[in-house]
Amino acid sequence: MKGFAGRTTVGAAVAWIDSALPNFRDLAVEEISLFHSAGRILACDVASNVNVPGFARSMMDGFAIRAEETHGATAYNALPFHVTGTSFPGTPFSGIVMPGQAVRIMTGAPMPDGADSVIPVEYTESQDQTVLVMGELSVGKHVGAIGEDVRSGSLVLGAGRSLRPQDIGVLSSIGCSSVQVIRRPIVRILITGNELLSAGTRPRGFQIADANGPMLHALVSRDGGLSVMPGIVPDDRESLIAALAEPADIVLVSGGSSVGLEDHAPRVLADHGTLAIHGIAMRPSGPAGMGVFNKHLVFLLPGNPVSCLCAYDFFAGRAIRALGGRNQDWPYRRIQATLTRKLISTVGRVDYARVKLDGIHVEPVAISGASVLTSTTQADGFVIIPADSEGYAAQTEVEVLMY
Ligand code: AMP
Ligand code: MG
Repeated sequence: MKGFAGRTTVGAAVAWIDSALPNFRDLAVEEISLFHSAGRILACDVASNVNVPGFARSMMDGFAIRAEETHGATAYNALPFHVTGTSFPGTPFSGIVMPGQAVRIMTGAPMPDGADSVIPVEYTESQDQTVLVMGELSVGKHVGAIGEDVRSGSLVLGAGRSLRPQDIGVLSSIGCSSVQVIRRPIVRILITGNELLSAGTRPRGFQIADANGPMLHALVSRDGGLSVMPGIVPDDRESLIAALAEPADIVLVSGGSSVGLEDHAPRVLADHGTLAIHGIAMRPSGPAGMGVFNKHLVFLLPGNPVSCLCAYDFFAGRAIRALGGRNQDWPYRRIQATLTRKLISTVGRVDYARVKLDGIHVEPVAISGASVLTSTTQADGFVIIPADSEGYAAQTEVEVLMY
C-alpha cells in the first residue's frame, strides 16, 4: 500500500472529462414515438412544413358576417341578418356569405367565404332564420388566421431542447408522429465490496447492505442515463476486468478506488486501459479516479456513500448528462443564504459541505463523515468551498445547491 503521491484539482478533472466527451452533433441519435418523448433531448432542429391552422377559423360560437355591415349596431340598434347555413368544425359551410347574410358558426369551424369576422352568440338574438346583431365588429375579429399558431417554414423547436409536454403537443400539431432524440447513454454500475449484501438486505454480522447501487441507479436516471446493474462484483482483479469489458457508454465502479489492498480498480484501469486521473484534491471523494477502458469512460467512485454521491455529482453525472445531450451544469437549484455558523475548510482542496436551510439561514450539518449517508438526508443542500478558501465565517452569504 502506498498513498497518493499528488492530487489532481477538481478543475483539472472536470477539464479532462470535457476533453473526453464528443460534441453534441456527434452524439448517437434514435427515432422514437412522440408518446415516449417527454424529457428526451431533441437531436435536430424541427421546422414546420404546414401552417397551423391551415385555414381561417372561428374563435367563438356565433355568426360569421361581414364586419363593415355591423357599423352602428348596438343593443338599442340591433341589425338583422339572414342566416343561410351553419359551419361546423371539420364540416364547413360551402356557400358564400353575401351582403345581409350570416352563417351560424362554431368554435374551430372554418370561416365561410365572404365573411371576415364573427359576432359571438352573446351579442345576438335569433328569431327563426334571422339573427339580430347587437355590436360592431372589425375585420378579423374572433377569427384565427392561417398560420397564426405555426407558420409553414418556421423553426418550431431547436436541437438540444429537453422536450416538454407542450412541445410534444406542438410536434403532433405539425404532423410529426415520431421525433429524433439523442440516445440515452447506457451506464453500467459495478458495485464492488466483499462485505456487501445486495441492495435492501437486512445487514447481519460484519456485512452491510449496498447503499450505493440504488442511489447511483437513481442518479443515473435523473441524468437521463439507462443503468445496467449486473450485481455485486467480487473484490478481485479478474472479476473486475471481466465486468469492465462488458459493453456500455459509461461505467461507474463503486468502491475499491483508493490505495488499499483490495482496491483493484485503479490498477486494472492503469494496466488494461487508461487511468487518467487518480486522487483528487477534494473532501469527501479524494480517492476518486477516472479513465478509459475499451473506449468507454470509467469513473472510480469511493465506496463511502457520501463520497460516492459527491464524486458522482462532481464528475460522472456531468459526463452522463453531456453524453445524453443534456446541460452539463449541476442539476440543482441554487439559492443564496446566510451562514449561522462558520464553515471550515482547508486551503488546497475543495470541500462539499452539507447544510440545513431554515428560511434564509443555513447551517452546516453537524456530523459530516464520508461514511455517514444520513448527513445528506438531513441536509437540504450543500455548499462548495473552493480550494483557495479556508472556509466561511458566520454571517457570510453563501450559495447553496439544493438537493
Ligand atoms: P472502499 O471504497 O471499497 O474502500 O469502501 C469504503 C467504505 O465504504 C467501506 O467502509 C465500505 O464498506 C463502504 N462501502 C463500500 N461500498 C459500499 C456500498 N455499495 N454501500 C455502502 N457502503 C459501501
Ligand atoms: Mg471496498
